[in-house]
Amino acid sequence: RCASGEEALAFGREHNTRLVDLKFCDLLGTWQHFTVGINELPAEAFAEGLGFDGSSIRGWRGIQESDMLVMPDPYTAFIDPFIAEPTLSFICAISDPITRQTYARDPRSIAIRAEAYLKTTGIADSAYFGPEAEFFIFDDVRYENQSNGSFYEVDSVEGIWNTGRDEEPNLGHKIRHKEGYFPVPPTDTLQDLRDQMVLCLEDLGVSVERQHHEVATAGQAEIDIRFNTLLRTGDDMMTYKYVIKNIARRFEKTATFMPKPLFGDNGSGMHTHQSLWKEGKPLFAGNRYAGLSELALHYIGGILKHAPALTAITNPTTNSFKRLVPGFEAPVNLAYSARNRSASVRIPIYSPSPKAKRIEFRTPDPAANVYLACAAMMMAGLDGIQNRIDPGEPLEKNIYELPPEELKKVPTVPDSLRGAAEALEKDHEFLLKGDVFTKDVIDTLLELRKKDHDALRLRPHPIEYQMYYDI
Ligand code: GLU
Ligand code: MG
Ligand code: MG
Repeated sequence: RCASGEEALAFGREHNTRLVDLKFCDLLGTWQHFTVGINELPAEAFAEGLGFDGSSIRGWRGIQESDMLVMPDPYTAFIDPFIAEPTLSFICAISDPITRQTYARDPRSIAIRAEAYLKTTGIADSAYFGPEAEFFIFDDVRYENQSNGSFYEVDSVEGIWNTGRDEEPNLGHKIRHKEGYFPVPPTDTLQDLRDQMVLCLEDLGVSVERQHHEVATAGQAEIDIRFNTLLRTGDDMMTYKYVIKNIARRFEKTATFMPKPLFGDNGSGMHTHQSLWKEGKPLFAGNRYAGLSELALHYIGGILKHAPALTAITNPTTNSFKRLVPGFEAPVNLAYSARNRSASVRIPIYSPSPKAKRIEFRTPDPAANVYLACAAMMMAGLDGIQNRIDPGEPLEKNIYELPPEELKKVPTVPDSLRGAAEALEKDHEFLLKGDVFTKDVIDTLLELRKKDHDALRLRPHPIEYQMYYDI
């Protein structure tokens, strides 16, 4: 890891790079990039930035004020393994060329401002996040209007016709439904692919804790990276998605972080472990419920209170709400528990060490922009601490098996992207503290969410033909 621009440039020269690729994250969470000759990036550019036209980036500036600066972060320097020509690459933040301040709508700058805000509260000096992203690997995705339940006909790499379509049957051997989790090869045909993903991540400085096949019948994977600070978790997850998609491509596959690609099977979540620390000491360990501190319980109180609004950021697609349904290990009810994986907040208790004390928020999915998601979750937790929000009693019973009258008392996540946007519209003051999210960013996010909701809402849906054609 390079400490300065000079060091990063020397690292580039060692690898004979003549090109520099500058990557930054748009509001929806996709890396955008452009490439310059290495001589175009003098050491001063790390402090002063490099100009580019930001007018066509989704959710950013209008044409009338398009000039922006990329600010390459020397710490993130890597040789890009997916560009043929040796290329020095940086993850960048975006600044305004006139004010020279971080750009309000730049997600990475939002993460930077969130970390700065945390320090000003005096509550903690670091927040750590450990995301557990799941995703699907498919051979080929063809969009077809079908009326037999699932509308995307997907050939998984494990030879399953997930749609159960009856024409053109695949007569080859298939693994049994939900039995991809997790026998050894040859049933697990994705081992070598996941290994290459892990090793590539490690080469790029992203530590991996484990990889395995996930519970959906075929093609679902989980690769967990090691916890890191807020900004670095965002950087790690951007690198993660880049590596997963590009390694899949090398194997002639495609990887998707879409939360619910298959009707009737498990979706992909991004459970996120989180904790606060001050002066090297963990603040979540204590002698309250499940070995938590009172502060940690208040943090949970904040997460649960603001969870409906948070989903507009942690579950940002129309498809996200197809995952948040009962029966597929995705949390629907807003409650916390040490045992219960059906609660949206779980407290892992397998390690007795205070340093390992953390909470796991299970609602987010991997479509989320991780910079925004981690910043927003932390702001919700901090609001809980600042206002001593009581999270209520833990829910020890399996929520899926609760009698209906008890279940009615447990609040739930919104059931659509519009519901999430409405919740965020009503509840976003906690995000505006310290100018972490500005009102303009909230308004832009609301606009984007409503636009997506309408894109789906306005179209006749294939299942409507099945339900209503012969009405
Ligand atoms: N795939 C599940 C989800 O949507 C999670 C499975 C697990 O517990 O790892 O959240
Ligand atoms: Mg999992
Ligand atoms: Mg988990």
